[in-house]
Parts: sequence; structure tokens; C-alpha cells
Amino acid sequence: MNPVRGIEFDDSELRAELVATTLAMSAARLNTGASGNASVRTPGGMLITPSGLAPDACTPDDMVVVDPSGRPDGRLAPSSEWRLHNDLYAHRPEAGAIIHAHAPFATALACQRLEIPPFHYMIARFGGNNVRCAKYATFGTQALSDHIATAIADRSACLMANHGMLVFGRNLANALALAIEFETLCEQYWRVRQLGKPVLLSDDEMREVVERFRWYGKPAEQLPE
Ligand code: 13P
Ligand code: ZN
Repeated sequence: MNPVRGIEFDDSELRAELVATTLAMSAARLNTGASGNASVRTPGGMLITPSGLAPDACTPDDMVVVDPSGRPDGRLAPSSEWRLHNDLYAHRPEAGAIIHAHAPFATALACQRLEIPPFHYMIARFGGNNVRCAKYATFGTQALSDHIATAIADRSACLMANHGMLVFGRNLANALALAIEFETLCEQYWRVRQLGKPVLLSDDEMREVVERFRWYGKPAEQLPE
């Protein structure tokens, strides 16, 4: 049990799921070693990976509780990026889990400080007709969190200049799936750029795709008439 702000909540399943997610991030080559981090929203705040520990060295008990005021509770220090995770949960109620990675293709684009345009319809999966790149700031700072808040407005992913990528989803499984999809899109954009300037989809074409994604993958009973 973890009493945070008076809320008693058994977080043992989420701790195990968070460790499994970070192992899956490594297996999907989103991260190597201790780079990157992940978190999941809880009734009293969040559970986040510890700082500087590779996923295969982590146990569920190493995951750190952080309350919305930023107070940690754990035997290890929380990820150095706890501020940006905390701020995102505060400002984006639809975020249930957050993944930050130094994935190779996303990071290559982020080091060019590129915004990803609508070169492929799947860009709409992240909320609109582009995925922006957040301005550079030192890792772990409030400035970095503020830049990300700007870049990820109305979106569920952004690049981070000279650093990597950030993706959120409704839960850990969804965030992981979206992070893998995003890295795939980054690889595709990287390859397309080798061939020259891609043909971009129009605002109207992208609006239609964003609308379709509202229903994509939902159970039949939730589909519109
Ligand atoms: P942590 O190990 O502190 O989570 O840092 C990794 C990282 O990617 C910082 O941006
Ligand atoms: Zn990082």
C-alpha cells in the first residue's frame, strides 16, 4: 500500500507493469542502458522509473512514487525527468502513461531539430498534421518541461531537440505501442528524406484522418452509427 495524500492504493501490479514496459522499450530498441524513462498515473500521483538504472537491473520495488507536488517516496531517486512527467499529468488529463526515449531515428531527427510534417497519414495518430520538436534545454530541468508542454500541445508526441522523443498514451500498453509506432514513423521520414523532398498531405486530407482515428481500434459498440 502506498499512502499518498491520504489515498491508499495497492500499486504492486502497476510497479510490475512499469518494469515490464521498460524491458519492452529496450527489446524494441527504443532505449539502451539507463537512457530514457517511463511513468504511469496513479490515484495519488505517479509511479516513475528510478534515475540512472538500466531496466534489466530494476525490480518493481525500485519504482518511485512521486506526488503531484513533486515529493518522492522510494528507496531510489526518481528519474531526473520527473518534472516533465509530473507537469504533463497535471496539464493533460488524457495522459495515463508517459514514455521518454532516446530512440535512434527520433533522436536523429531531433538533433536536426526537425518538425515532422504530414508525409504519411499516420502522423495524425499523434493528434494533428505534424509532430513538433521541443526547444533544447538541459535534461531534468523545468525549462525542458516547459518547452515540451509547448511542443506537445494538442498532440500526444514530440521530439526533444538534441535529446530524443516523448510519447504519452491512456495506459502503459497504449503508450508503448504509440512509442513504437512513432519511432517507426521517424525511421520512415528519415528514409524518405534520403530520396528528396516528400509529397505532403494537405490540411483537409489530414483533418479527415484525424477524424477517422477518433474511432480507429475502438470496440464495435463505441463506433458511430
Ligand atoms: P534518468 O535515468 O534520470 O531517467 O535519465 C535518463 C534520461 O533519459 C534523461 O533525459
Ligand atoms: Zn533523456
